[in-house]
Amino acid sequence: MPKRFQRVMKRVHVKTTKHNKLAFKKENAGRPECGLCKELLRGVTRGNKTKINKSSKTGKRPSSLLAGVLCNKCRIKIIEEAIKVKHEIKKMEDTEITLRKYIQQIISVVD
Ligand SMILES: [Zn+2]
Repeated sequence: MPKRFQRVMKRVHVKTTKHNKLAFKKENAGRPECGLCKELLRGVTRGNKTKINKSSKTGKRPSSLLAGVLCNKCRIKIIEEAIKVKHEIKKMEDTEITLRKYIQQIISVVD
């Protein structure tokens, strides 16, 4: 009977000299990618889930605004849009729908 935490893990049959043995495979966490353009995020830990859990909070992702969510290009673009919306150069309705939730996040943090 597998242990409680092993029930979700993938099962692998390993051949030994005496008999076949049931082993459990450790799953890797998914590839960290940008929320808008799906580009690979830099500075975010990848690989085994236990390795990620052991690393410190600042080791897991960069600490700047929206880091670990969006790539640098998209972050700069959204911050520029947020500044325009805040200073009433541009209206919120004129921005792209996909960017709005991030723009609202930035405006709420700055206030
Ligand atoms: Zn991006």
